[in-house]
Amino acid sequence: MNEDHKDKIVIFITIDALRPDHLNSYGYHRNTAPHLDNFIRHATKFTNTFTNGPATPSSFSAIFSSILPYLNGGYSPLPLEKLIFPQILQENRIRTIGIHSNPNLSSFFNYGRGFDIFLDGERFKEKKHVKKEGSSKNTLYSLIRKIFNYNNLINRIIFGIPFFNKIKSFLRNKIPKITDLLLPFTPMAYNAPYIVNKVIDLLKKNKAPLFLWMHFMDAHSPYNPPAKYVLRFRKKDFTLSERKFLIERVYPIKTKEPINPQKIEDLKVLYDAEISFIDDSLRTLFSFINKNINKNCLVIITSDHGESFYEHDTFGHQGNVYDENIKIPLFIREMSKSINPKSCNNFVQLIDIAPTILNYFNLENYEDFQGINILPALNGEDLERKELLITECYQKGGIVKRNNIEGFKLISIRTPIWKYIFDEEKGSEILFNLKNDPVEKNNLVDVNREELLNFRMIKDYHLQKVSEKDEKSRIVDTLRNLNID
Ligand SMILES: [Zn+2]
Repeated sequence: MNEDHKDKIVIFITIDALRPDHLNSYGYHRNTAPHLDNFIRHATKFTNTFTNGPATPSSFSAIFSSILPYLNGGYSPLPLEKLIFPQILQENRIRTIGIHSNPNLSSFFNYGRGFDIFLDGERFKEKKHVKKEGSSKNTLYSLIRKIFNYNNLINRIIFGIPFFNKIKSFLRNKIPKITDLLLPFTPMAYNAPYIVNKVIDLLKKNKAPLFLWMHFMDAHSPYNPPAKYVLRFRKKDFTLSERKFLIERVYPIKTKEPINPQKIEDLKVLYDAEISFIDDSLRTLFSFINKNINKNCLVIITSDHGESFYEHDTFGHQGNVYDENIKIPLFIREMSKSINPKSCNNFVQLIDIAPTILNYFNLENYEDFQGINILPALNGEDLERKELLITECYQKGGIVKRNNIEGFKLISIRTPIWKYIFDEEKGSEILFNLKNDPVEKNNLVDVNREELLNFRMIKDYHLQKVSEKDEKSRIVDTLRNLNID
C-alpha cells in the first residue's frame, strides 16, 4: 500500500442543479446558504467553473471518467471501458463510499464500480473485494447472479414507475408535516437530512484513507420545499394550488403559455428555498467535519450543472448549453490549512475533479484522463492550461437523450471571450462574444467568420476523435462478445 495517503480523507459533495449565482458567496442578493458560506470562508472559490455535460448523465460521466461525454463509447450507461476514479482509489486500498438517490447514477448505469459501499436510493449494499482466482463456487455464484440480476431488476422496477421523481413532491405537497418527518427515513427519497445522518454515521465507522461522495437532489425540480424555507424569502407561503401552478404550468421545459415574469420570480423563491433546505442539513455535516476531521481532509463542493429560468425560453436543465445551465459553483477546502479566502479565476471543468482527487491521495494520474490537477490553485498558483471548454450531450426536441441513436449532437465550445454552439438537430451554429454579450443573445455567425471557422475546426476535430474512439469501442465490444480478450 502506498503509505503517502494513509491518513487522508476526501469528502466530495455534489448538489444537483445548483447555480452559482443563487449563492450569496457568488453575489446573489438572497442569503440562500449561510452555513455553506461560513464553511467555505477558508476554502478556495473557483469563479469560472463549467460542466462538460448539461444534465446529470453526461455531467457525471465527465466527473467520474475525466473524459468528455462523447468519447470512449458515450456517457449513459457509463461504458465499462471508461475507467472511473473510484476504481483507482479502491485498487489502492482507499475505502470508497457513495450515497445518492439520482436514478441516472445508480449501479444500473454502471456508477457503482469502485465503491466499497454504494447507497444509490435502492438499498444498502456492500461489495466485497473479489478474489482474482475465482473458485468454482464463486463462478457458480456469479452465474446465478447473472441470470437473476436482482440489482438491475429492482432498479428497473423502481425507476420504471411513472413519475418516480415526483413522489417526493407529491408527499411534500399533500402532507408536508408528515413528509418532513418521514422522508429522512425513506431510502427511496434520500433527502438532505437523510444523507447527512447516514454520512455522519459512515464517517464515524470508516477511517482514513477514505473517499466519500454524497449527492443531494433537493434543489432538483420539482421544487417543493417545506413552508419554513419559503418564509425565509417571502412573507407568505404559496398555497398548494399556487405551488401546483408554478411547478406544472410555469416549470415545464417547453411551454406555449405566456410566461409572466412574476411567476418566474415565484418559481425562483421555491428553488432558493430548496437550496436553504439543503444548507440547513449541511450545517450538521460541517460542524461534524470541523470537530472531528480537522486535518488531512479535502472537502470539494460543486454541482453537476446549472438550471434555467427562462433566460432562453426554457426551464430546468435539458438540451441547453447556455451559461445559466453550464456554469457551476466549486469550492475546495483543505481542512488542515486555515488559509485566507482565495479565488481562482482560471477556467476549471468537471473533468478536473478526478485528477485532483488522485493527486491529493498522491496517486499518479491515469493516462486516459483529460482533466488536470487543480490543487495548485489552493496555494494561489495559476493553473497552466489552454482555456477551452467543451460541453456536450445528445438531445432531441430539447430533451436530453442517452446516446447518438436516441438524440442529436449538441455541443458548446467556450473560451473566456467566445462561445460557439453546434446544434445537429437544427443544423445550426451560434457564435457569441461573451465580453460584449454575456447573456448570449446576439448570434454573430454572419459577422465574425474567422472565429466561426476556428471553432468549427475544433468541433470537427473533436467529432473525428469521437468516431475513431467509437470504432475502437466497437472492436473491443466484439472481442468481448467473442470472449477473446
Ligand atoms: Zn443533475
